Amino acid sequence: MKEVYEIAVVHGDGIGPEVCAATVEVVKAALGPVNPLRFTEYPAGAEHFLKTGQSFPEPTFQACRAADAILHGAGGLPGVVHPDGTEAGLDFTLRLRFELDLYANIRPIRLFEGVPSPLSGVKAGDIDFIILRENSEGLYAARGSGALLRGEVAVDTLVQTRPGIERIVRKAFELARKSSGAPRDGVRRVTCCDKANVLRSYAFFRSVFDEVAKGYPDIATEHALVDAMAMHLVLKPGHFNVIVSENMFGDILSDLAAATVGGMGMAPSAEIGETNGFFQAAHGSAPDIAGKGIANPYGTILSAALMLDWLGHKHGDEKLNRAAGRIRRVTEDCLAGGLLSADLKGSASTHKIAHAVCDRLATVP
Ligand code: ATP
Ligand code: MG
Repeated sequence: MKEVYEIAVVHGDGIGPEVCAATVEVVKAALGPVNPLRFTEYPAGAEHFLKTGQSFPEPTFQACRAADAILHGAGGLPGVVHPDGTEAGLDFTLRLRFELDLYANIRPIRLFEGVPSPLSGVKAGDIDFIILRENSEGLYAARGSGALLRGEVAVDTLVQTRPGIERIVRKAFELARKSSGAPRDGVRRVTCCDKANVLRSYAFFRSVFDEVAKGYPDIATEHALVDAMAMHLVLKPGHFNVIVSENMFGDILSDLAAATVGGMGMAPSAEIGETNGFFQAAHGSAPDIAGKGIANPYGTILSAALMLDWLGHKHGDEKLNRAAGRIRRVTEDCLAGGLLSADLKGSASTHKIAHAVCDRLATVP
């Protein structure tokens, strides 16, 4: 337990500042007057790049590395690129992931009461699973080092290492043991999602998965090819508990899954390593709606709940876990009560949602 937890807050671009400011208010309301979290804002992102020529200043990186946790709005704007062509703002997320070795990207997918799903016949509680995306290797480990030969042939490399697969698969089984959501049939299971029938790297992922699974006889296991998985997530989402996958497949499937529970605005995310934790909604900066005050803050608010849970467990500080639980309960109540943003076919502003969540937190024990 610590007296003060340093939280590095980076608002970023587009709707980032709107959803991030709303979330900090909610966390403060959840913790009340004796709040052990100290929020400090640091600059980074595409807008900062346009102003200063730097998208990720070194002092911001050092502060993020030293902080107890990092909270981010969203980064990047279309067309704002570094001289080498890479997106300004995206480097924030990528550098943190790779330099702080944030290998586990936890993306809970849950349909809340009151939230419209494009799938017919599903109700709240029917969809409640976690996509665990390997965040440090796979196809994205080779970012920037792929080759373009004579302007004719482009090559990227998919890297899977035994230690990298072992640690993400172990994390999947630990999550299945702890997760609040169990599938509708009540069986806790980990689904290994790959393309083992075509590519050697994925066959290796599957074989290491099978080895690690032997250490968790209490959890059911299964394999699914990624193409079939895309179909299953639409046709039988209630079957899943924890899905573990390589970096790029996890990226793609988590947007698909988010769409089934109300869209990108409802998708929280936690990226954690051995020491650091980085929390941001799964969505991007949504420049089409930035500055209008209508962004959905629930994804970032739920990401902050993941942050409190992670900090609470790491430091044995139950107060933080209780605050996380209260944020989730109040979020659930507010959504069920019709407090919905425009993307959820409602009319509540970002501000209105944040205020209503804070007011309700003040009354919930
Ligand atoms: P990135 O490349 O950073 O993942 P993206 O291009 O995939 O970004 P997003 O910014 O994630 O795109 O969002 C796609 C669209 O979804 C947005 O243009 C916006 O209309 C909608 N959207 C995303 N997040 C939200 C939100 N929090 N509230 C409302 N709408 C959102
Ligand atoms: Mg995206």
